[in-house]
Amino acid sequence: MLPRARDKKRAQKLILDKADWLAGHLHNLPPPMPFDPGAEVLLRGKNVALVKETGRGKAREADGALIIPCPKGANFAGRTRRALIALARQELDIQSRHHADSLNTHFSAITVRDTHSRWGSCSAAGRLNYSWRLICAPADVLDYVCAHEVAHLIEHNHGPRFWALVEARVGPAKAPRRWLRDNASQLFAVGAEA
Ligand SMILES: [Zn+2]
Repeated sequence: MLPRARDKKRAQKLILDKADWLAGHLHNLPPPMPFDPGAEVLLRGKNVALVKETGRGKAREADGALIIPCPKGANFAGRTRRALIALARQELDIQSRHHADSLNTHFSAITVRDTHSRWGSCSAAGRLNYSWRLICAPADVLDYVCAHEVAHLIEHNHGPRFWALVEARVGPAKAPRRWLRDNASQLFAVGAEA
């Protein structure tokens, strides 16, 4: 075979291999969990049904359900999203404060957003940033991310002293880290359009 032809064959094979991998990957993607009344979403590691209630007020958690008050004509999906962000903020705040108190440190503020590259981060100015999607993960996973970011207020690296602080707070980090790796696409399916 001429070098050119060989390169072309090799390139074709590479593309086919990649296409197979991509197709397998897409196939394994979890189904979207749109914010529709009656649909299920992931909350604190469990599937709960979204219940629409006509009216105003705060969203509330009931057995296996998340009840979203929604005035007539209001956007249910938007209300659901805001309710999950509020629940996330509340939980992330409690856990971060708890770890900061125990480690005798403090943070300046907490930001909750739809982050894409990291579940949490800690700025040089002591601001903690989190993904609201952590409220969809089991409580011990959210707790681990809080301990991780709070420990960065003291150790700005991922060295042995950093991990010792984290694990002193929440135990071995391996399981929650693995959960986040294995379930990232599940967390991003929450609120995705069908
Ligand atoms: Zn880190």
